[in-house]
Amino acid sequence: METTDTSKSGREIKAAVVREKGGPFQLETLTLGKPRADEVLVKIVATGMCHTDMVARDKVYDVPHPIILGHEGAGIVESVGEDVREVVPGDPVVLSYLPCGKCSPCLLGQPFHCVNTYPLCFGGARLDGSTATTDADGNPVHDHFFAQSSFGTFALANEGNVVKVPKDAPLELLGPLGCGIQTGAGAVMNSLRVGAGKSLVVFGAGAVGLSAVMAARVVGATTIIAADVVPSRLELAKELGATHVINSKEEDPVEAVKKITDGGADYSLEATGIPAVLRQAIEAIDVLGICGIVGAAPLGADGSFDINDVMIPGKTIRGILQGASIPKIFIPRLVELHTQGRFPFDKLVKFYDFDQINQAAEDSENGTTIKPIIRIG
Ligand SMILES: [Zn+2]
Ligand SMILES: [Zn+2]
Repeated sequence: METTDTSKSGREIKAAVVREKGGPFQLETLTLGKPRADEVLVKIVATGMCHTDMVARDKVYDVPHPIILGHEGAGIVESVGEDVREVVPGDPVVLSYLPCGKCSPCLLGQPFHCVNTYPLCFGGARLDGSTATTDADGNPVHDHFFAQSSFGTFALANEGNVVKVPKDAPLELLGPLGCGIQTGAGAVMNSLRVGAGKSLVVFGAGAVGLSAVMAARVVGATTIIAADVVPSRLELAKELGATHVINSKEEDPVEAVKKITDGGADYSLEATGIPAVLRQAIEAIDVLGICGIVGAAPLGADGSFDINDVMIPGKTIRGILQGASIPKIFIPRLVELHTQGRFPFDKLVKFYDFDQINQAAEDSENGTTIKPIIRIG
């Protein structure tokens, strides 16, 4: 249904606002301004919920409150600013991260390491500090989280972070491709570039780790190992393509990987954010192996490793953000793989209604749901 456009001031929306550290998400009626010249107003159909939303809710990363979070939005373009050329009203889109396009990593073709990532994605405002949302009392509410704030009926994105998807694609499923799923799949396909016949071990079988497992199967890796402490996740990992699973509570994962791979894996991925597990991920790779870090640890967290165990065998430890993905190229590829049945990420998903958003967060945190998707429109 059409919401009222109050013309000058914008339109009425319903959104989940976090007003204090630790939450909860409160559904409120707010007013959202019109898109600026480079912005795209999107009617949100559904949005994934990602670990980073909880990190921002809990101020583990410094994010201003009150704020509308949500950064895995999918929806239909409602209107566009005057300079927008890539999309028109009616286009189905997935929203992803927004790079600045002007800094040196952006110019070098690595926008996932944009130096303005923090203000653009976590600043709770546009880069110039402005916000577009006001609450019922007329007070500003922080928004533009990952240049979207998708926990609402409408979101203001930017031409730079909307990804057009086919009209017949299952839109309500696709939001998580914009962050968690592309992070895991892209780490394997874009950054590590795991090849056919190679071995990979993934530490942490959540949404990111399991996406890496599926991607490893797509690229033809022949030894795909998942390590976790939750038996149900290990079962799912097997279903999605893991050739071996390790319960790290029951056996030493480093020894187990060395045994399975006869010395060590070609690649490892650390998807837990736990420093002790990073050390295992480094120890589990073979000579010339690469360990990718995708798990978000608390700001300032230290990790440790045996220096000679890295230097002598020529190991590489690499930070990977957003799966080194260019979303406008990579997300359509993942959609096509899903359509062909080769990337069944729908098996990670559980749907919730908008008013169950706090339940979705709880289920995600206690591990009963791997990837919650909130149905909004
Ligand atoms: Zn940049
Ligand atoms: Zn995320």
